[in-house]
Amino acid sequence: MSSEEEEENICNISIIGGRLNGSKCQQLKTSCSHHKKEKKKVRRGGYLKNKEEARKVILEDLERINKFYGFKYNKVSIRDQSTRWGSCSSNSNLNFNFQLLFVTPEEREYVVVHELCHLKEMNHSKNFWNLVAKAFPNYKTIRAQLKSRKILSEF
Ligand SMILES: [Zn+2]
Ligand SMILES: [Zn+2]
Repeated sequence: MSSEEEEENICNISIIGGRLNGSKCQQLKTSCSHHKKEKKKVRRGGYLKNKEEARKVILEDLERINKFYGFKYNKVSIRDQSTRWGSCSSNSNLNFNFQLLFVTPEEREYVVVHELCHLKEMNHSKNFWNLVAKAFPNYKTIRAQLKSRKILSEF
């Protein structure tokens, strides 16, 4: 491990109160609980701050793209999910990750097309991908691009 990497793993949060008042935590991030709490708070803040804007752009994409497909969906939710960009439930509700606000418009459109197509094909069969390709012929490139991105845990 380089010293730079080591520094990244040290919690630098200032301690308020107690014997260490005003000094930095300096514990390993993995072993200090208040760092985890802080991270959650930051992430939650990012979600609350951005979800309405995310909803706006995702709904615009959704309505525009669905003019092509003409599928029926129920509720659209914008969520803070750590492992998924989007999902589609068996009762036709669509969920999207608020962090789609921070990817390229094409990557976002790909996720919208992907979830829309699950309304018709609840699997990743050949039929499913053919359906995706109808609106998004270069989906393979964009999908690979999106896969290389990480969903952030703090920002
Ligand atoms: Zn700490
Ligand atoms: Zn899928």
